[in-house]
Amino acid sequence: MTVWDDLVGQERVSEQLAAAARDADAFVTAAATDGPLPETSSMTHAWLFTGPPGAGVTQTARAFAAALQCVSPDRALGGSPGCGFCDGCHTALIGTHADVSTVVAVGAEIRAQDMRDTVRKSFTSPANGRWQIILVEEAERLNEKSANAVLKAVEEPAPRTVWLLCAPSVEDVLPTIRSRCRHLNLRTPPVEAVVDMLVRREGIEPEVAAAAARATQGHVDRARRLATDAAARDRRAAVLKLPLRVDDVGSALRAAQELVDAAAADAKELAEEMDSKEAEELKAALGAAQGGRLPRGTAGVMKDLEENQKRRRTRTQRNSLDLALSDLTTFYRDVLALQLGSRVAIANADSMDVLERLARAGSPEATLRRIEAIAACGEALDRNVPPLLAVEAMTMALRSG
Ligand SMILES: [Zn+2]
Repeated sequence: MTVWDDLVGQERVSEQLAAAARDADAFVTAAATDGPLPETSSMTHAWLFTGPPGAGVTQTARAFAAALQCVSPDRALGGSPGCGFCDGCHTALIGTHADVSTVVAVGAEIRAQDMRDTVRKSFTSPANGRWQIILVEEAERLNEKSANAVLKAVEEPAPRTVWLLCAPSVEDVLPTIRSRCRHLNLRTPPVEAVVDMLVRREGIEPEVAAAAARATQGHVDRARRLATDAAARDRRAAVLKLPLRVDDVGSALRAAQELVDAAAADAKELAEEMDSKEAEELKAALGAAQGGRLPRGTAGVMKDLEENQKRRRTRTQRNSLDLALSDLTTFYRDVLALQLGSRVAIANADSMDVLERLARAGSPEATLRRIEAIAACGEALDRNVPPLLAVEAMTMALRSG
């Protein structure tokens, strides 16, 4: 199983990246053995990955980072880099590789001071002699100063530095930056590809897989979660009951509180799952096998991990709210489709009776206003409006009548 196998429905992009990783590997090998450097290469030092939410943009960048750091001996025997198992692949994938730095937004934006160390590191040689990789998640959150810092670094990169920028679309990134990047756009994974992944990789029954894939509209993680996690199914069912529940101010405010609480619980659950495992892995990697004592000078690394985990909790809560918003949007889009007499792509076919009831009860204009209120909630969260306030404004606007 290679690093590319985790990408769903992105065959064209995977092939391009695999080719670039092969060329990059040939370059590293030639340089290490003083052999002749390859004349042509599909490898370049700056990449921009874009694609719709849930298509796996960050995951694709991370798979590429792993392939660039792959040290599997099979490479020399005609295999491709990106085995998924060797130390290079594994540590790059779990985020502990010394030569893969990840930049994430703190709050709504990536500030220059939060990436100063990373930018400095981008001008240095990699510790392991392969590539110094800087992965910027959510590059659309770069502010003016941090974008300028990235621009400078991308303009004059160190010979072995590779920038991997992730964003929803090219328009989200400064033209001066994106003109220096090779751009790869992920497509929304087709429902069949998501079903296939769930059946083959997760051992899910085809019918359950198909329902999860349809309901999540090409959002891979979401589909996996829905297909494998009963609690996630319950939560989604609760979110989709919301349109029927909110009929007065009291019920709207209660529904908002529940949504925000569920998101916080989600973040906590995921944190408990991942935090201690990561800390153990990092400790093991730092060679603390004996008596749990860490070697001197590694406290900073542990602290970095803890800070990253804290940021991730905030992000997870936000992501969880985003998922609820996206469920609601899909739901009202279904209502709208019924109101306009189209049954082609009903995502929530399992809730047809509720959809039809709401479709009969209102006008397409009212449904559109509700969809707009959901979008406005997402924008308010982007502007760092307190979650409860933003969600309350939305549930108030969703009220019937
Ligand atoms: Zn490998």
